[in-house]
Amino acid sequence: FNVPIPVNEPIFGYAPGSKERELLAAALAEARSKQGDIPMYIGGKPVHTDTKGKVTPPHDHQHILAHYSIGNKTHVQQAIDAALAAKAQWENLAWEQRASIFLKIADLISGPYRYKLNAATMLGQSKNAYQSEIDAICELADFLRFNVDYMAQIYQQQPPVSPKGVWNRVEQRPLEGFVFALTPFNFTAIAANLPTSAALMGNVVVWKPADTQIYAANLLMEIFIEAGLPQGVINLIYADGPEAGEVIFNSPDFAGIHFTGSTAVFQNIWKTIGTNIHKYKTYPRIVGETGGKDFILIHGSADAEVSSTAIIRGAFEYQGQKCSAASRVYIAKSLWPEIKKLMLRDLATFKMGGTEDFGNFINAVIDERSFDKLSKYIDQAKADEGVEIIAGGNYDKSKGWFIEPTVLVVQDAKYTTMCEELFGPVLTVFVYDDNDFEQILEVIDTTSVYALTGAVIAQDRYAIEQATIALRNAAGNFYINDKCTGAVVGQQPFGGARGSGTNDKAGSMINLMRWVSPRTIKESF
Ligand code: GLU
Repeated sequence: FNVPIPVNEPIFGYAPGSKERELLAAALAEARSKQGDIPMYIGGKPVHTDTKGKVTPPHDHQHILAHYSIGNKTHVQQAIDAALAAKAQWENLAWEQRASIFLKIADLISGPYRYKLNAATMLGQSKNAYQSEIDAICELADFLRFNVDYMAQIYQQQPPVSPKGVWNRVEQRPLEGFVFALTPFNFTAIAANLPTSAALMGNVVVWKPADTQIYAANLLMEIFIEAGLPQGVINLIYADGPEAGEVIFNSPDFAGIHFTGSTAVFQNIWKTIGTNIHKYKTYPRIVGETGGKDFILIHGSADAEVSSTAIIRGAFEYQGQKCSAASRVYIAKSLWPEIKKLMLRDLATFKMGGTEDFGNFINAVIDERSFDKLSKYIDQAKADEGVEIIAGGNYDKSKGWFIEPTVLVVQDAKYTTMCEELFGPVLTVFVYDDNDFEQILEVIDTTSVYALTGAVIAQDRYAIEQATIALRNAAGNFYINDKCTGAVVGQQPFGGARGSGTNDKAGSMINLMRWVSPRTIKESF
């Protein structure tokens, strides 16, 4: 298709004593030694304001990494205006030229900026080196390179049939207006993918990241500019959410939202868009990935070691703060004693602390709000009858927002923590009678208000098939004999339906098609 064939970016291991680890440690020390002053970027220019916010590592909340400038409604309007001013030139640029910019961004991220961006994500979002590497470097470079390939396929699609005397063709136009990218804290890759995928298809963008992801977002913007992204194509603003929303969703030029975040926020945005629908020039595209309450189902025929590893990694990597994280597990009674032993063996080896010490597998949760929410659930579990805490259960916010990896075992398959999204390192286990496999499939399906990821671990092929069919709508990404996290761009397109989003699969042609509005042209000779 006239663009480089994408390959997944290799993952650096940062082994003890390696050059890579030394360079990453140096980047962390360098970032910690400075106090940055982070501007917004409107029309390609840095914009500083007198209203400042603080960036602190979640695992060391008294250490100030940077201050950032907070904008008001005027800045949001300026960002929209700058986007619209850049629109005509950007959308008329040949797609190969646009592709070149995003391929260069991928090379900068996986090359000269690798350690700096990795360190920014480790510090700003409290991710360990490996989790940061697979997110901020590999997944992000993959999004950019694979999306360029998908874009080329879209633009070079087989044209419609043209009988003699007629030439039919389809033009993939960018949306008429601007796209709003509202991005989450938990993945630097997603924060960058939401604005860049829309921009790649010729759109102009206003981008508002989560306050807790600003540190890496700022560096991303510097990299976009270095790669030659023209002024005003992506405008980065920091502002109070409802205040920014008021300007964005009242603009007649609002043409779409690319969102990852909570279900509640997404539903509110959808309602606001509905209320304002008569104000827009065109029906806006609404693309969102929202919550998850992801499951792992262990059948009596499963391998215990495979099961335990899938549960531990699925539940506790990045402190369970992935939309895809395993947070409810259903285990066949015959296997529970063995799996429990293996889980406790592995959990005992986990160290918790700051990301600067590479030995810490568990770091802090993102902020005080999340810490308070999780500690309340843990307290409630301690008070409730029929709930046993077999691991963790402690928390401490004196230096950082630390919650121990916690495992609850419940008697009621519909206990609150089996149903509500917690977004943290708290896992709930329900042990079922091996003969009740069919009933448990039904329980899982009916309690799947969200439907993002899920896994079945089994060796019995009939059980695998039964689960695959019964849980058809309970997960947009379904895993067999694996954990339910870690979708790889180009390999497992990612997204879910029900309460988990519009299922427009991140890193796919389906997603990119949401950012164009096709025009069919018929010419008669
Ligand atoms: N794509 C990630 C995974 O498969 C999760 C993304 C998210 O948390 O939004 O683990």
